[in-house]
Amino acid sequence: MDNELDDLYQQVILDHNKNPRNFGSIPIKTHSLKGHNPLCGDLITINLLIENDVIKDISFEGNGCAISKASASIMTTLVKGKTVQEAMEIFDQFHELITSDMDEEIDTENLGKIAVFAGVKQYPSRIKCANLAWHTLKNAIENKNSVVTTDK
Ligand code: ZN
Repeated sequence: MDNELDDLYQQVILDHNKNPRNFGSIPIKTHSLKGHNPLCGDLITINLLIENDVIKDISFEGNGCAISKASASIMTTLVKGKTVQEAMEIFDQFHELITSDMDEEIDTENLGKIAVFAGVKQYPSRIKCANLAWHTLKNAIENKNSVVTTDK
């Protein structure tokens, strides 16, 4: 990874940690699910309003480390207004990004903001922090009504 992406990673994480987007509750919700990362202590709730297969509104609540919060914040901005299918495609891209080999070429251009999470691979113990919001989103959409834990 080059230093430019590394700096961008730090900046984006700090920015979203300080000013999380879509943080709090939403007035109407169709889905709500808690996610827990016991390794770090991150505990977040994803709230969704899905109508006609479109994510009309989304928010997250809870407490976690900077990476889990920034990841949740960025996730909400990326999937808001998207169809469920589009959101799941973004989920797949993100998942591939942070689980692929260090040496693998990543097409960061198509990924936009989530490309900065390639930086998380330098800190393997933090991958679950970055993953938490995304897995919680997926499970909420699939209506799995139990607490999501990344500790699998
Ligand atoms: Zn964490």
